[in-house]
Amino acid sequence: MDIALGAQLIDSLRIGLILLDHRGQVVSWNGWMKRHSGLTLADVAGRRLEELFPEVSGSRLESSISDTLRFKLSAMLAPSLNPSLLPLYHRPGDRQRDQRMQQLIYVSPLRHEHCACLIQIHDMTAALRRERRLRAQSNQLIETSYQDALTGVGNRRRFDQDLAQRFRQAKDKKRPIAMLMIDVDSFKAYNDHFGHQGGDACLIRVAQTLRDVLRRDGDRVSRYGGEEFALLLSDADLTAACAVAERLRLAVEQLALPHPAARSIGRVSVSIGIAAMIPTDEQLCYILVAQADLALYTAKDAGRNRCMWYDAESGIARPLPDSALAGLHSK
Ligand code: GH3
Ligand code: MG
Ligand code: MG
Repeated sequence: MDIALGAQLIDSLRIGLILLDHRGQVVSWNGWMKRHSGLTLADVAGRRLEELFPEVSGSRLESSISDTLRFKLSAMLAPSLNPSLLPLYHRPGDRQRDQRMQQLIYVSPLRHEHCACLIQIHDMTAALRRERRLRAQSNQLIETSYQDALTGVGNRRRFDQDLAQRFRQAKDKKRPIAMLMIDVDSFKAYNDHFGHQGGDACLIRVAQTLRDVLRRDGDRVSRYGGEEFALLLSDADLTAACAVAERLRLAVEQLALPHPAARSIGRVSVSIGIAAMIPTDEQLCYILVAQADLALYTAKDAGRNRCMWYDAESGIARPLPDSALAGLHSK
């Protein structure tokens, strides 16, 4: 190939090419390098990279060049580990902002009397930016797939996953786990009175209230279905779970959302069933749901707007002991 054509070809490449001689001094520097570094071949010829760019001293690029010159070894410097080694810029304006190009660098030996090392530099800035954006979108999608569309709290999928995971942990560590099943009282009548949109707004307020009370403790409430919410408490025994339940019930009551159709207090309220256990090896997680459910339906039968807990010894649900209520009602 004729030399002029060869030179033109090298200058037209969309990657950076640097040729070093056996002493590590620059003998060639293509057009791409000039455009992205602002330095011409005349500026760099005969100089070592660490002279031109002090940051190369002690870097992986410097040791790779040395290995190539001494042992004819090749190396790849991935942008994940060495993102912006050289002061090269994706766009001219990036220099003022000191935003360097993300670089993928190959260092390889050449058997030629004047050149001993070839350095190729790929601009990975756009590809990595795209990858970051895709990863963020994918994380966002995953997050959305675990969120209830109406209320924004966790959805049933999230609850099922949390239940399996936390129950397994409780089993392994032989620690207690508790569950609260929370159901809005007389909600069918609320819908009949205010319409479904009014009902939706009420569910949003109730969910927000539950979440706000729990946010302090880092616990996550999920919508189990319809007007039912569920909460898992790791490392919580019955006493602790009863106290949380009563706080949640009171918070909804204190919202004071009018419920003309409610048989009890004229305000929106919830009933809560509580179950807690240290799971044995044979037990499946669904038993916790079944026990909380039984306690919930006993609370409904007992008049609603109350919490009840499942007593595993007798197999029946009971009202909260005074000790669980002490101090809460005066707040
Ligand atoms: P109880 O006190 O025994 O729980 O009575 P309830 O009326 O709350 O229970 P029931 O199961 O009879 O009715 C639940 C109602 O919840 C019926 C259903 O239309 C309503 N519902 C379920 N999901 C939604 C929703 O997403 N939006 C609205 N607006 N209503 C819902
Ligand atoms: Mg229900
Ligand atoms: Mg209900």
